[in-house]
Amino acid sequence: MEIVLATNNKNKLKEMRSILGGFFDELYSLADLSVDVDVEETGSTLAENSYIKAKTICDLTGKTALADDTGLMVDALNGAPGVYSARYAGDEHDDAKNRALLLKNLTNAKDRSAHFATVITICYPNGEVLTAEGKVDGYIANEERGENGFGYDSLFFCPELGKTFAQASAEEKNKVSHRGRALRNTVEKLKALDK
Ligand code: IMP
Repeated sequence: MEIVLATNNKNKLKEMRSILGGFFDELYSLADLSVDVDVEETGSTLAENSYIKAKTICDLTGKTALADDTGLMVDALNGAPGVYSARYAGDEHDDAKNRALLLKNLTNAKDRSAHFATVITICYPNGEVLTAEGKVDGYIANEERGENGFGYDSLFFCPELGKTFAQASAEEKNKVSHRGRALRNTVEKLKALDK
């Protein structure tokens, strides 16, 4: 079976390939198919945005497409940045500015608990849709730690690993992360449905 991974994010592609590689015969990136689009995330939930991305790429390529949408929910900020995680500090999707604003907004916050959530959607050319979710609990660190990963990884302290995601190896992060869990849930659902 073949599938298109509906993302331009190289880090996400790597994580997706390492978990889905054993399940699908062919995994295409958008670049592999010369698809040059940046799908606008106009939904108000992670589920809506992951559907919009998967459906757009399925319609464009005529192939089964898988998309994820991820948000960082911080309890002391009433769930922000949440669905707006990519645009937290502005429309330019600047990860460093997003992290700086998050630290600023949590100055003196005693409760730094947070979670990452991912919703995966697969859209099939025949109109069928499959979704799966994953979540990981943690804390927002007082300062950035670690060099690996991307996005908010250097600020997300994962108690299961005893370090931030940016201090973890790719394998360590994939084992416990929101996207790792969502991708493995996706595979379990595909197996159960004999897809
Ligand atoms: P999106 O799912 O690409 O819309 O991502 C939303 C925001 O969360 C972006 O700012 C990403 O950089 C960030 N993000 C997504 N996945 C991760 C992750 O695994 N670790 C850290 N940040 C992430």
